[in-house]
Amino acid sequence: MEIKTAEFTKSIRGTDPIITERKRQVAFVGRSNAGKSSLMNCLLNRTDLVRSGKTPGKTQEINFFLVNNSFYFVDLPGYGFAKMSLDRREQLAKMIQWFLLEEVYDRTVVLVLDIKVGPSDMDLEMLRILSESNNDTLVVLNKSDKLNQRERHEQIKRIALQVPEGVDMIVCSAKTKEGREEILKRVVG
Ligand code: GDP
Repeated sequence: MEIKTAEFTKSIRGTDPIITERKRQVAFVGRSNAGKSSLMNCLLNRTDLVRSGKTPGKTQEINFFLVNNSFYFVDLPGYGFAKMSLDRREQLAKMIQWFLLEEVYDRTVVLVLDIKVGPSDMDLEMLRILSESNNDTLVVLNKSDKLNQRERHEQIKRIALQVPEGVDMIVCSAKTKEGREEILKRVVG
């Protein structure tokens, strides 16, 4: 899949007509700092179209990016951000959950994990929500460049035990671009 164009479309916090457009959505979720924005930029061949979870503002909204004028990449707020108040974190969790339960035309949800860290309790809760809501789900194990071969195999084995059966996993690195083509093929053919 060649990425020809990618542009920011809009940010939403609640219901909006864009959600029910007849366009495929590839939505990205993950714990803050897992490398979600780096990975989205890597997939789109851009350096800073998608802003890092560390930047305030836009990262607390659901951001839509139109790709190749045909489908959306959707950036959901990262969760588990330590510096955020409990109230705000709960609000964000509710917004993420609401979005993932909305009826849409066609959607794949990509859960970004740090391969070195593996899934947190919140990631496991996310996987549960995704399977119960019948969202097509892909787990990506990012930051593969941080591990040697042996550690990498151990982590893949350990994480696979925590991921529900039938959920695909792809090892990747936003830094080295490992897995980029494989992810694109899986989510947008
Ligand atoms: P987000 O909060 O999930 O959007 O995470 P960011 O994309 O902002 O990345 C968090 C940190 O991890 C940044 O310092 C990135 O440079 C780093 N990072 C992201 N992806 C990778 C990767 O594949 N390899 C390595 N080594 N670092 C990464």
